[in-house]
Amino acid sequence: MAVATQREYGLFINGALADPSGGEIRELTEPATGEPLARAALAGEADVDRAVEAARGALEGAWAKTPATERSRLLHALADALHANRKKLAELEARNVGKAISSVKAELAQGVENFRFFASAVGTIAGRSNAIGGSLHFYSLKEPVGVAAQIVPWNYPLMMTTWKLAPALAAGCTVVLKPDPATPLTALRLAELAGEVGVPEGVVNVVPGDGPTTGAYLVRHPGVDKVSFTGSTQTGGEIMRLCSEPIKRVTLELGGKSPNIVFADADFADAIPSAVWSIYYSAGQSCEARSRVLVERSVYDEFVGGFTEAARRLKVGDPLDAETQMGSLISHAHRDKVHRFVELGREEGADVALGGEPADGAGAFYPPTVLTGVDSRMLVAQEEIFGPVVTVIPFDDEKDAARIANDVKYGLYATVWTGDPARGHRLARRITAGTIGINMPYTAFPGIPFGGYKQSGFGRELGIETLDLYLETKSVVHSTSPKPFNPFSL
Ligand code: NAD
Repeated sequence: MAVATQREYGLFINGALADPSGGEIRELTEPATGEPLARAALAGEADVDRAVEAARGALEGAWAKTPATERSRLLHALADALHANRKKLAELEARNVGKAISSVKAELAQGVENFRFFASAVGTIAGRSNAIGGSLHFYSLKEPVGVAAQIVPWNYPLMMTTWKLAPALAAGCTVVLKPDPATPLTALRLAELAGEVGVPEGVVNVVPGDGPTTGAYLVRHPGVDKVSFTGSTQTGGEIMRLCSEPIKRVTLELGGKSPNIVFADADFADAIPSAVWSIYYSAGQSCEARSRVLVERSVYDEFVGGFTEAARRLKVGDPLDAETQMGSLISHAHRDKVHRFVELGREEGADVALGGEPADGAGAFYPPTVLTGVDSRMLVAQEEIFGPVVTVIPFDDEKDAARIANDVKYGLYATVWTGDPARGHRLARRITAGTIGINMPYTAFPGIPFGGYKQSGFGRELGIETLDLYLETKSVVHSTSPKPFNPFSL
């Protein structure tokens, strides 16, 4: 296979595009049209070996010799390169994922800022010293954890790649990143850009491949020190198991079934469009999609009417049209899965107030769907559907809202809409989720830690806390007297 031609994508190993050792290629089609998009290489075990070897070589070689200030400069340069290439990258991502280009542009802009945030954060990496006393002199060092395996899903291929790469590189780690085999294109381009701005070869390697084979091999690889995984809760459990032997550092960003809680005193002019955005953004294929709308019973009918009408007016269609608000789903197979959930909802007794049938045509489109008459214990209110399907549930008071909000195995995000800020803050304490938005639908900002409680995982992305997850702390103790002093000796 000739790599780097217009519609063919290789692997990215040791600073260069590479052919897969097994010669395996996957034909990618555009989910919104069914048209061919690209031919993308799939990495096998020998490719993972090469990538890990390159990452280890860079960790102990060029990257170890790169001063922190230079790492920071390179992250800024990568932010600049991402910004300069935003048009082509956005189009590639929109065509590969089927996602509305306006959404992709916002994700890309956030990715640029994420590199800038961690470029600045390099300056915060510092050990400490304390007055242990006597003849002992102590200080601690912060050192990179080592080679990081990073596994990203298909729903935000480029943005998730920036979330993972920026803190790892800031900490001085090197990376072998495995995108989902369906959506490897923008991560590969980003790796190329890293090389172009001067990130030494071997620091960033990208090996698209199937999860249970290539992904599991990468996670188990003895040359990998840390695994950062984003994906489903089920796969997260498997990753954790794989990381137990030999013991590896692991962080997991997993699924969600997040609530959007609307009180009677909320400003519906904000709450309705925001609640619509919070579920139908990215066609509901978001970990933090607010897929359960909990509405105070006294305003249930009014809110549901307004919400359903706003959802009906969403512009669904061509991902490349700047006016489109919702594109297609990732594949027909995924659309079938989403539709089975809607059928299950019907069987469980829910009413379909909007949508509920796959669209005709070649693209994997599914309309904005609203399920009402839902009880919190129904499977459609418990399981992550990962599509444009919202379940609407009434509640009686604040206590009841918190009970229903917490009545799932996940805990990634929650939004509260209320005219009473004190109530918003009371609920922020009661709800078991990693982030709470009060009258605020947007979820991800560089600098604000993002991650899960309960089965939504552990570890954080985006925040300064993330840097620590790529660092080890080493303590150095020096006795300045010829006879080592032990304050605890009897
Ligand atoms: P998935 O778990 O099937 O796959 C995610 C990634 O893991 C892919 O790259 C896949 O190839 C790889 N993988 C699969 N099995 C593996 C194995 N045994 N070993 C190693 N790698 C393996 O998830 P998905 O369906 O692609 O993504 C959707 C899920 O991701 C949803 O549950 C969503 O909520 C979650 N998600 C979470 C966040 C977050 O930050 N919490 C963000 C985005 C998506």
